[in-house]
Amino acid sequence: MAKIAINIATGSLQQEEIIVGIDLGTTNSLVAIIHPETKQPVALKEYDGGSASGDESPLVPSLVYFDPASNAVVGNRAKPFLLSEPERTIFSAKRLMGKSYNDLKNKGSFFSYKIMDDGTESLVKVQVGEKFYSPVDLSGYILKELKTRAEHILKTPVTKTVITVPAYFNDAQRQATRDAGRLAGLDVLRIINEPTAASLSYGFGLNKEENKTIAVYDLGGGTFDISILRITAGIFEVLSTNGDTYLGGDDMDQAIVSYWKEQAAAPWANDAAMQQALRLKAEEAKRHLSSNELFTGEINGHQLELSLDQFNNLVSPLLEKTINSCTAALKDAELTKADIDEVVLVGGSTRVPLVKKTVGDFFGSHVNDSVNPDEVVALGAAIQADILAGNNKDLLLLDITPLSLGIETAGGLMDVLIPRNAKIPQKAARQYTTQIDGQPGMRISVFQGERDLVKDNRKLAEFNLSNIPGMPAGMPKVEVSFLINADGILTVSAKELRSGVEQAIEVKPQYGLSDTDVEKMLLESITHAKDDIATRALVEARTEGEQLLKTTERFLQKNATQLSQEELLSTAAAMQALQLALTMEDKDLIHKKVEELNDISRPYAERVMDQAVAGAMKGKAI
Ligand code: AMP
Repeated sequence: MAKIAINIATGSLQQEEIIVGIDLGTTNSLVAIIHPETKQPVALKEYDGGSASGDESPLVPSLVYFDPASNAVVGNRAKPFLLSEPERTIFSAKRLMGKSYNDLKNKGSFFSYKIMDDGTESLVKVQVGEKFYSPVDLSGYILKELKTRAEHILKTPVTKTVITVPAYFNDAQRQATRDAGRLAGLDVLRIINEPTAASLSYGFGLNKEENKTIAVYDLGGGTFDISILRITAGIFEVLSTNGDTYLGGDDMDQAIVSYWKEQAAAPWANDAAMQQALRLKAEEAKRHLSSNELFTGEINGHQLELSLDQFNNLVSPLLEKTINSCTAALKDAELTKADIDEVVLVGGSTRVPLVKKTVGDFFGSHVNDSVNPDEVVALGAAIQADILAGNNKDLLLLDITPLSLGIETAGGLMDVLIPRNAKIPQKAARQYTTQIDGQPGMRISVFQGERDLVKDNRKLAEFNLSNIPGMPAGMPKVEVSFLINADGILTVSAKELRSGVEQAIEVKPQYGLSDTDVEKMLLESITHAKDDIATRALVEARTEGEQLLKTTERFLQKNATQLSQEELLSTAAAMQALQLALTMEDKDLIHKKVEELNDISRPYAERVMDQAVAGAMKGKAI
């Protein structure tokens, strides 16, 4: 039976629903579909007036610039601001997804914009002027741009998508990606791994009879990933991943710049204004050498030259690093090179001939490079989308969960453990802790639905994990596990890992829910996405603010005598300001007050800590 959808904009009937595939990349993003006539995957191209060459390109730079009125400008149009207003131009937002400030501490200098330092484990925010943006917000802007582009080209509303993420993305990073989609007004049917998408582009995994082991080598502008996948009966399993999150084509450019500087040994080459021009020239040389033997160019009358041999010498140490990662990935997968049936190349930097040669020599198996390496992931996402749309009749869909399943956390938020559309059987687990000292029990409330606040979702069950031994807040480790068996029955269990106290319950999630109910819940999750995500951000900001007030109070009780009068007064004032902000509906204000209190307490907290360490060392023989 053919599906019929109504185009809300035109009121016309559509035969088939288009579900787009999106590659949300660190440097570039793109959107692809299965062409309704040719049935082939294609990346959507649009001339937006911003690309340097003036060509149509499917690549949308993953950049967001915020103008002084806080309007977001995305993609090529944001590019010029990378240089002119770096503190307002966000690049590499993907690197921030699901990360806390602590995760990024040592990478601070990499980002030219301000990442809020609250010194905690809570998720990062980027500060631009008086506004704070979460990585979800930032990726949301990029996805919105891709949605608009697709709608513009297809002349029809686009509401459903499959988005790709790196194979090593954890639960939180995947959930953040889903939220970003929702924020952009997209129903994210599934999140799939980038290497899986790339393999699908080559048709691997589409034939149910075929079992294969695949190495996906992905060298982009700034990151390198190697993933080893096994496909059995159409099911993809990631056996191992390895790589370097700060290695890619940019490093090749940098190596060329250093070489030229060394060659020139002239003062002009070290001139600060010259660096950017040299870098751009280096990239041009690199691209040129992908199909030529020699590059010659000039900057302001200074001659520059690079031969293919010289270039190969420069990049071989970088490639050696990637090969070390490949060796490590094989080892983790407990495989040898001979076990690899196919190698798939992904990422613009695999256009470098020496990369292809090095990878081919190492694995000694067939290297698949016929699909455009910039598009291969998005095209695979489009293939997966088409399968989910039911357009590809040859492929059976597996049983899936119709709605997300999760539990209630602080502030009445829904914490999803098993996302919608997950394959059945399925299991997931996450750790939680207590908020109060000596808390003896924890209530586990299980919900089903797509909204951010549990009050808007459907409650399935509730139980108490009791008899937790007395411990300070934050000490107990309660692991909540969800298990859906092949019959769709969900078992929820909770276990305090330090003491072993345990409790479990069984529920039937779909009970009493019709298809119409499910549809309605899905639709509501999209129409309320903006408000929901804003509410979540406010609740999270409040929880963070309350937590900070508590820890500061505790710190003062213990250490007040070591603080100066001035420190005590400024701390009290900052605490009061935060207290007041917590009563208001403004997350940006709360973040600002959290930041201010942190700025005041950081110096003396460090000082007290140092003294404590020094005290503890005293009298100890070293
Ligand atoms: P990606 O992150 O996958 O978009 O890859 C971008 C990287 O690929 C950048 O470092 C580009 O300089 C590089 N790149 C693109 N085209 C070529 C080419 N023809 N030869 C060499 N490198 C390229």
